[in-house]
Amino acid sequence: MSFSDLGLSPPLLRAVAERGYAEATPIQTAAIPAILRGGDVWASAQTGSGKTAAFVLPLLQQLSAEPRGRGRFVRVLILVPTRELAAQIGESVRRYGRYLPVALKTLVVYGGVSINPQMIALGGGADVLVATPGRLLDLIAHNALSLDVVEALVLDEAYQLFALGFADELGRILALLPPRRQTLFFSATFPPAVWRLAESLDRKSTRLNSSHVSESRMP
Ligand code: AMP
Repeated sequence: MSFSDLGLSPPLLRAVAERGYAEATPIQTAAIPAILRGGDVWASAQTGSGKTAAFVLPLLQQLSAEPRGRGRFVRVLILVPTRELAAQIGESVRRYGRYLPVALKTLVVYGGVSINPQMIALGGGADVLVATPGRLLDLIAHNALSLDVVEALVLDEAYQLFALGFADELGRILALLPPRRQTLFFSATFPPAVWRLAESLDRKSTRLNSSHVSESRMP
């Protein structure tokens, strides 16, 4: 399907056209309209399926439609297992958002590097925060950010979050998020722990008739 049939705004279509994509991949065709409707989505998606654009594009559209909050607030939180994936997604967010009329603040945080520059960068909050779980909790412990008004949570490569032993951290982060938010859940595989987490996050299960996306609406 063509990207222009998915309900995306002209600045986002321009950024997509610049990438030279001929048409949307199946995960993009299924997920983008569902996310734009405000529903929760969980999808079985491999790396290389185009899943990053499938959640980044509609989230950017939603963010640019609403003015920014103030303080140490994060509006979209993207949790990932590794710093490489964090950097990659941060780059995609900047690239796809480059023609939006409002400048969105995007930050990428991960462990293994000094926390101070990340704390300074988080002053004034962020529209999009891409984070690994441990460093996110460290930043919260330092009072560098608040998750009180997160509008959307993305869990990317969820199976790998579990495989790398982030289950406890995930539970602690989820407990800090507001219950009313959009949740987007992507995983290449659904072993039992991932399945249980997906189900626990799936508060209303209206599912799309699609092999790899299920959608549920916020109450
Ligand atoms: P991802 O699955 O998000 O890691 O994306 C894998 C690669 O596919 C990235 O290099 C993207 O730039 C590329 N890509 C994303 N969407 C499309 C598309 N619709 N057509 C062709 N390539 C795409």
